Formats: sequence, structure tokens, C-alpha cells
Amino acid sequence: MKDPVRAKERIAELRVQINHHNYRYYVLDSPEVSDAEYDLLMRELGRLEAEYPQLLTPDSPTQRVGAAPVEAFGVVEHHLPLLSLGNVFSEEELLGWYTRTSKLLARQQFNFVGEHKIDGLAVALTYINGQLITGATRGDGFRGENITRNLRTIRSIPLSVPKEAPPRFEVRGEVFLPKSGFNKLNRERTEEGLPPFANPRNAAAGSVRQLNSHITAKRPLDIYIYMLGYAEGKLIPPTHWETMEYLKSLGFKINPNNKLLSSIQEAKDFYQTWEEKRESLPYEADGIVIKVDSLELQQRLGDIGHEPRWAIAYKFPAIQGTTRLKEIKISVGRTGTLNPYAILEPVSVGGVTIKQAALHNEDDIRRKDIRTGDTVIIQRAGEVIPEVVGPVVSKRTGQEKLFTMPSCCPVCGSEVIKPEGEVMYYCSNAACPAQVQERLEHFASRGGMDIRGIGEQMSVTLLREGLVKDFSDLYYLADKREKLLALERIGEKSVDNLLEAINNSKRQPLARFIFAMGIRHIGEEMAEILAQELPSLEALANASRESLTSIPTIGPKIADSIIAFFSNEENKNIIKKLEGKDVLPLPEKGAKPEELPLTGQEFVITGRLETFSRQEAEARVKALGGTAKSDFTRKTTYLVVGTEPGSKLARAQTLGIKQLTEDEFLKLLEP
Ligand code: NAD
Repeated sequence: MKDPVRAKERIAELRVQINHHNYRYYVLDSPEVSDAEYDLLMRELGRLEAEYPQLLTPDSPTQRVGAAPVEAFGVVEHHLPLLSLGNVFSEEELLGWYTRTSKLLARQQFNFVGEHKIDGLAVALTYINGQLITGATRGDGFRGENITRNLRTIRSIPLSVPKEAPPRFEVRGEVFLPKSGFNKLNRERTEEGLPPFANPRNAAAGSVRQLNSHITAKRPLDIYIYMLGYAEGKLIPPTHWETMEYLKSLGFKINPNNKLLSSIQEAKDFYQTWEEKRESLPYEADGIVIKVDSLELQQRLGDIGHEPRWAIAYKFPAIQGTTRLKEIKISVGRTGTLNPYAILEPVSVGGVTIKQAALHNEDDIRRKDIRTGDTVIIQRAGEVIPEVVGPVVSKRTGQEKLFTMPSCCPVCGSEVIKPEGEVMYYCSNAACPAQVQERLEHFASRGGMDIRGIGEQMSVTLLREGLVKDFSDLYYLADKREKLLALERIGEKSVDNLLEAINNSKRQPLARFIFAMGIRHIGEEMAEILAQELPSLEALANASRESLTSIPTIGPKIADSIIAFFSNEENKNIIKKLEGKDVLPLPEKGAKPEELPLTGQEFVITGRLETFSRQEAEARVKALGGTAKSDFTRKTTYLVVGTEPGSKLARAQTLGIKQLTEDEFLKLLEP
């Protein structure tokens, strides 16, 4: 750009836009634009700042990582900053990075490690004296969010490590949701009227950055450790590859697809192999990362801005194609949601024929300005349901039609309603055949009452033949054995198995039962929370709006939905019919959150501790269920006394608060 005044304005515009997108992406986990669009803005800003270095400021988004941490989680200062990664998009750019690196090191030959760049969320885990003390997000690179409680729910994160481990160290890794978990979560969110997550990264981040760790615990999160942040008190191996092997021996999960590479040619081959096979991976990878193997060489290379010079991300191209959107159809979900989806002119994208794609909701269609008849860009990623990225506006003929939601249900013709403040439209008729069938299937599904043998086909048959009208009728099928036997393609053995599975489902835990009933906005996690808080179905049915909203994470929308469900005559009748057949959910075991070793104990620390910083000690207390305060309250149990204690020591004596030495304190923290 030749005009410096215009460049200054454009830089300011870009910074505002990028900061807005960073906030949506990193804080709200809900981006408004695709990564490709965002990357274009960043590249433009980077180019302009390179052209006009006098306009570069330290607060520019190009100079920073992520976004500031959300204070509500509690903030962790990183011992060493967590950086981002430089990106390349072609072989040529990769070679450019290699040439720069070899020049800086004044050598051609050195090893690399090739790894997958998993689309998840970076976390730093700190272990002290063998125990997991804190788990934090990257945040702005210097300060992250304290999400220890949530990370403790991920089974592949060791809570303690063997004695041989360094007394104090930090590992870094990527928390992610496998593709199957991502699809399931999005299906549920759509049914609950919530916007789906844009990609597995946002889904993983949204799952881990929860103020309620019960929700995190329900999501099938996993982790791969990809680096040692720092280690004190023990010698560590001299290369990244050996360090990973060492961490594996301590119980950390390391990606088995990592590969030691002895030349840049091997790095290119590693990329090629995985670009072809990326679809077969159980997780979403958006590229590979090439790292210089020797830690000494890594040290010599150091960082540039917010990126290490010793590693580079080589991104996979998005798997996209274009085709014509023939029609927008609607399916009706179990809660009556009208779910739009695109019928496409079949097109082969990355070797797979795509005929349909998700459209989520009307707002999404409007925002992307997708019209029937448009040529559209389709994007797919592994098993993730293909999506319509947007229209190719230049290909419009003028014949394209804007989409509007129908005012009548496409299945039963009843009125369509859109509750205020919701994105979804609903068929208002609870007896709509599509809803009844989806509800029946949902009731019997694995997450629900888990009745094997009742899938889509069987639900359709049972309803068509009039053998059931709603899911409570399943428990009356035993009286209709002859009629079941008369159905096509079902033998005596299958009928017996089906009846047995139905009978066995009568004593499912309360959470499954609540979920199975298909109450609007109640997904598996919400059902779990309700079952933890309320002892029985009866208690849930009779709960007032006030008592429901007093449960953390339950807002008025959910409370109203529960009340509406249980005051509906039809549903009352269904519950009566279930009771008539002795279908009684089991109360949850230990309905209140688990007791941790320090639950109910409050600590105040004075003076300096030898083993921890004060912040780490407090985090450790919290991770074990206790509370840590900066001054005494009526509930304070202990004063931990370090070296050079302050005036609190004398006050504790007057208040009669028990004192602990550092050693006594450490004993309490032992598992
Ligand atoms: P990045 O995601 O490109 O790379 C750094 C991250 O890679 C690390 O923090 C780590 O979490 C991850 N990683 C995965 N596997 C790894 C491995 N084996 N070794 C090391 N690291 C590994 O950089 P970033 O700064 O986290 O984010 C930038 C990305 O986020 C861009 O792709 C951008 O498009 C996207 N973004 C999008 C929006 C939007 O609105 N759509 C907004 C902000 C950022």
C-alpha cells in the first residue's frame, strides 16, 4: 500500500476486527468467521506492519498470543511463556524455514521430530513432588486460566507420577475431542437449541473452560503431551525425541504417530503421508509440526516474537469443493426442532461423494447468505459432517432464492413457533409423527434407557403398526408378543431378546431416565446435574422454578422447560403408564459432588514456603477440595507458617487457629 495515511487507517481497522475475532474464538469459543478468513486478515496486517515498521506496536495482534485469561477461572502465571507456532502452507515455505534455520545454526544436517498438529487446546500441567498441582490454558501466553479441576477429569492425564520424576516440572500438550465425540456433542447441542461448535478446537476449549467440572467430566476428552516446558532437580535427555520417550515412561500419553526424521526430505514425506491419511485419524489434525530435535540447538535458535524459531506448523489444505445447492430440506428432531440441511448436486470432495451438508439454523444461513440454487463451497474434515462454508457470489445468476423457515411443520403441518431469544424453530405439535418417532428412538438410545433392538427401523415399524403410541408403551409390549411375532423379518428369538432388553431397562439410573424422556434443553450433562441435585423423578417433577434456578448452571430457560414438561397432561399420563409397569429409575449414588481430601478445610498462608510459591500451594489446596484465603475468616482451619511469617502468626494465636509447619502442610497434601 503506497499511501501511509491509508495504511495507518487500514492497520487500525484490521486490529479492531482481529481483536474482535480473537475474543470470539479464544474467550467465547464461538468464532464468527472461518480460520481461512481470519488468517487472511492476519496476513494482511502482518504485510502492512512489515511495510511500515514504524506503525508496529507491542499490543498489535501479530505480536501477541491468544487472548487474556478469563478471571473467573483464577489466573496462573506461566513459569515460561506458552508460545504460538509459525505457519507454512507449501513445500516452498517449508524449505524457506529450513534454509533460515540452517543458516542460523551454520549447519545443514540435524534431526527433526514430526508430529501431528491436533486441532485442540494447549494446556500446561505442573507437577510438584510427584503430584499434579496446576493445569492451565495458554491464555495470552504469559497468564492462563486455572482449569485444574476440569483437567483432573481427563483420564489420560496422570494425577501423580513415579518418584523418579523431577521434583518440579511442567509438561505441555493438546487437549482434544475425538471426531466421534465432536459430532455427538454437536448433535446434542442442536437438539437442545444451542449453537453447534464451529470445530473440534472450539468444542474442546468449550468443554475444558467450564466453571462446572461435572460438565467437563462428561465429555470424551483426551490429551497428547507434545513438550516438556521445564524441569528442575533432575537431568533430562538432550533431545526432544528422547524427552518424549522419557515422559512416556513417566505415564504421559504421547502420540504414537510422532516420528524421528533425519532430513528435511523426510519431513516432507511425513507431511505427504499424513496429508493423504489424515481422514483415517480419530482426531482432527490441521497439519503437522516439525521440530528441531536437539534441545541445545533449540536453545540456540530461541524465539522470534511469539513464535519459537525451532518449530514450524505445516498446515494441511482445507478439503473443499464447490457444487450447486439444489434444495434446503428440513428434518424434525425429537424436541420438535426444525433442522435445515442442504441437498447438493453430488460432488466428490477429497475422494468422498457428498450429497448433503449441515446448515445448522436459519441465523447461520442468513449470516452466510446461502440461497437455494447457489454455487456453494463445501468443506469436510474427516468424519465431521460436511458443512456449507458459503456461496460463490460471483456465480449467481439471479435465479437463487432466499431461504425462509416454513410456517407449518413439513411433517405434520402444525404451526411452527420460535420462542423468544432462541435460534431454533419448533413444530408445536408434540404428537407430530416425526417427533414421536425421534423421541422413541432417543428414549431407547445408548445414552438413554439403552434398549438394544430399538433403532430407527424398529421405531418406525412399531409406530406404523400401532403397537406403541409413545415410549411408555414399550413396557406393555410383553402383552402383545403374538403381534410382534407377526411382524415381518422378526423371529421368535429376536422378539424374546427385545422384550428382555425392555424389561432390563426398568432400573436405569435417574440421570439416564431424565435424559431419555427428551425434555427440551436437557442433554446428557444437564440430566446428570439434575440427578446429582434431586433425589428422584418425583422431586424433579414437583420442583419449583426457584429451586431449579438455585442450582448452578440451571437458568430460567431450562427451569421453564422442565416445568412445562411435567405439567403437560400427555407427559403426566406417560409417567403414570411407566409407573404402572414398575419403571423406577435408581437414585444416583452419592448424589452430591465427590468429597475430596481437603473438602471443608480452609487455609491461610503466611511467610515464604520452600517447596512452592504461594500461588502453587493455594492451587494445590483447591485441587484437593479445600479453600485458600489471604486472610482469616470464621471458617479458617489452618494457618500455614513459612519462613519470615507476618503479623498473621500472632493473630492466629489469639484467634486459636491451628498452625502448620511447611512439613505438616506437605503431609496433608500427600495423596
Ligand atoms: P496455532 O493453532 O496455529 O498453533 C499453535 C498451537 O498449536 C499450540 O498452542 C498448540 O495448542 C497447538 N499444537 C497442536 N499440536 C501441537 C504439537 N504437536 N506441538 C506443538 N503445538 C501443537 O496458533 P494459535 O496461535 O493457537 O492460533 C491461531 C489459529 O487459530 C489460526 O489457525 C487461526 O486461524 C485460528 N483462529 C481463528 C479465529 C477465528 O475467528 N476463526 C480467531 C483466532 C484464531
